[in-house]
Formats: sequence, C-alpha cells, structure tokens
Amino acid sequence: MGARVVTVKRHENLGLAERTYLPAILKGLATTSRHFFHNLGGWLSGKRTAFVVQYPEERVDFPDAFRGMPVLVALDDGLPKCVACGLCEFACPTDCITIIPGELPARGIERYPEAFQIDMSRCMFCGLCEEACPEEAIVMSREIELASYDRDSMLYQKAELLVPANLLKRRLEFIRAEYDRQPAPRSRNAE
Ligand code: SF4
Ligand code: SF4
Repeated sequence: MGARVVTVKRHENLGLAERTYLPAILKGLATTSRHFFHNLGGWLSGKRTAFVVQYPEERVDFPDAFRGMPVLVALDDGLPKCVACGLCEFACPTDCITIIPGELPARGIERYPEAFQIDMSRCMFCGLCEEACPEEAIVMSREIELASYDRDSMLYQKAELLVPANLLKRRLEFIRAEYDRQPAPRSRNAE
C-alpha cells in the first residue's frame, strides 16, 4: 500500500510581519490565554472544564486498543492457558520472553510453561507476542504502573503475569475483531 503524501504549501517570500514571528507569537498567546481563562472560569465555578484526571485516586479507562504490560491468561483452575509453544518468545523483537516448557502428567497436560518470564525493562509493548500466540494465552493488559528502583524487580515471573480470563474479556474481544479470529478453544479441563 502506497503512503499518503501530503503537500504542504510554504510561502517562499515572507512579509516583514511574518519575518518578525510576531503574528504567530500573538496567535499562540491568544490560544493559551483562551484555554487558561476557560479553565480558570471552570475552576472558580466548580465545574471541570478540561481533561484532568486526579491520579492516583482516579484512573483513566483506556480504550480497548491500548497496549499495556503483556500478561498471561489464566484458566478457571488457575493454570496458564499457554501451551509453551514458544511462538511469542520467537516473535518478541527484544528477546524479553523466556519460557521453560514442562508437563503435568497428573493433570493430563503434555505441555505447559513450567517457567514463563518477561523482562519488562526490555518490553516495548509492541503486542507482537499477543499477535503470534495461537492460544490467546498472552494479551496486552491495561497495566502501566511498572516503576521500580532496580532492574531485578522488572523480571516478571509466571505467578505475577497470570490474570484471570474474565478480567481480560474486553481485550480478548478486541483482538478477535482486530485479527479477524474466532475465539480460541479453551484448553484442557476449563471448558
Ligand atoms: S509486547 Fe513486544 S516486546 Fe513486549 S514481550 Fe510482547 S513481543 Fe516482546
Ligand atoms: S503465550 Fe502463546 S505463543 Fe507464547 S508460548 Fe504460550 S501458547 Fe505459545
């Protein structure tokens, strides 16, 4: 698909006023003042006039397309939906996913992630892991509060990554529509 080209008309010969930048400066000041007095009026009258979120008491309800920290979908029995196929690990451009596969013979599970680690200090929230996963087992959440004082605590282990599927419903529905997918069959005994 060809890129859309926008041709910008530029004045070759600037007038004296334009060369002083004064009209542009005054226009900018007028816009800033208009917003300032509009918001001041709102504040004085007790009405909220601008998009202000009183964080952390209030949180933004991010749109479904928002990509926060990648998380693992947990089935009803608490086990990861992941089958440790390694596709997300392969797709990740920053190599921040590490999976150690294992099996749970007692539960009749041939393959599951014994360990699943994501280095959030390297993750760039691109969503390629989510796109590559054939099981809808890793999805982009709305979690963005990942600040830390040291790099070691940015290594998220499987237990910290697991999120119940019902809490990820909006994102799961969004990616099904986005990737034109049918819902992935729910693995194992959680159907
Ligand atoms: S969001 Fe991108 S960088 Fe982060 S784990 Fe997934 S593929 Fe890797
Ligand atoms: S999260 Fe998905 S792509 Fe990654 S190993 Fe598990 S099943 Fe495979």
